[in-house]
Amino acid sequence: METSPGGEDCCVKVAVHIRPLIGDEKLQGCKDCVSVVHGKPQVQIGTHSFTFDHVYGSTASPSAAMYQECVAPLVDGLFQGYNATVLAYGQTGSGKTYTMGTGFKDGFQTGLIPHVMNSLFNKIETLKHQAEFQLHVSFIEIHKEEVRDLLDSISINKSETTNGHNSKVASPGKPPIQIRESSSGVITLAGSTERSVRTLKEMADCLEQGSLSRATGSTNMNNQSSRSHAIFTITMEQMRKNGSNDGNSNECMTDEYLCAKLHLVDLAGSERAKRTGSDGLRFKEGVHINRGLLALGNVISALGDEKKRKEGVHVPYRDSKLTRLLQDSLGGNSRTVMIACISPADINAEETLNTLKYANRAR
Ligand code: ADP
Ligand code: MG
Repeated sequence: METSPGGEDCCVKVAVHIRPLIGDEKLQGCKDCVSVVHGKPQVQIGTHSFTFDHVYGSTASPSAAMYQECVAPLVDGLFQGYNATVLAYGQTGSGKTYTMGTGFKDGFQTGLIPHVMNSLFNKIETLKHQAEFQLHVSFIEIHKEEVRDLLDSISINKSETTNGHNSKVASPGKPPIQIRESSSGVITLAGSTERSVRTLKEMADCLEQGSLSRATGSTNMNNQSSRSHAIFTITMEQMRKNGSNDGNSNECMTDEYLCAKLHLVDLAGSERAKRTGSDGLRFKEGVHINRGLLALGNVISALGDEKKRKEGVHVPYRDSKLTRLLQDSLGGNSRTVMIACISPADINAEETLNTLKYANRAR
């Protein structure tokens, strides 16, 4: 049951990343309540046991292995024209930002996005005589069902001048960012910054700028936590030169244009609203966030269920901005990896179990 027939055509892979106990948890005397079955991608908590495609434990830094096993195939797919999505899911404080590398301090060295950027540019370097490449980056967040541009320098300056209070006001005079679908099903974001990048440094600058700009609301669980989904998107256009199509040169005598995108998503905290703060505003955020995560869960479980897929069951992409935006990069020919991030601490056991159940549903 673990591996899907053919492996490759299963569109959603699920990995679990268990971070180590962190300082705060150690200070509180927390115990480790999550165990991994030796030699198997199987996680146990209490009497529950779940099997995933991969499990990365709390020993040493697992990000290189995680990159190789989970994300490198998606980056390779980009060069063949396949869209892809990597999602980090989990409660606030479980290590999503660390895992993805969308935090400004943490994870810039260790996160998956820096790995992606490195191998992307290495690969382009080896292929530059066979094809021309153009790369674009966008970095947005979805907060309360509204899309905000993290690369819009005006809105950054604005948040800097509001006394450290992170302003989420859109740039004056700019129309709201809208998700559009072309007749061929390609999703675009109208009104957001698409930055053209030529070097690793330029791409890393985009990651840094957007991460700094990312709205964070303080909650009583983690004041660095984000109540929003942050989506770093790399779009790659490729013009293959005459007759250089992967050695099958007799098949391809004309230039070939390919365009594909990779979404790297640091999802909002999955904890239920009642656990975060008491004021009405935060609760409203929680409700909206749940809408995105709920829709995502429904979409992924519809995609992962082969029986449902064959019966042509409706995939509810339209139920949230998040799933709408990812629509052309989830399912179909696209590849999706969900990384469920969990804390091993006993005080988080309930949320950890919720995360494992959600992730289990995605398989
Ligand atoms: P989230 O984005 O899910 O709210 P973070 O990525 O901010 O969680 O992680 C919460 C804290 O745990 C941070 O202080 C981070 O440095 C630490 N952390 C997360 N994952 C790891 C890891 N694999 N190894 C060491 N520390 C980690
Ligand atoms: Mg985070």
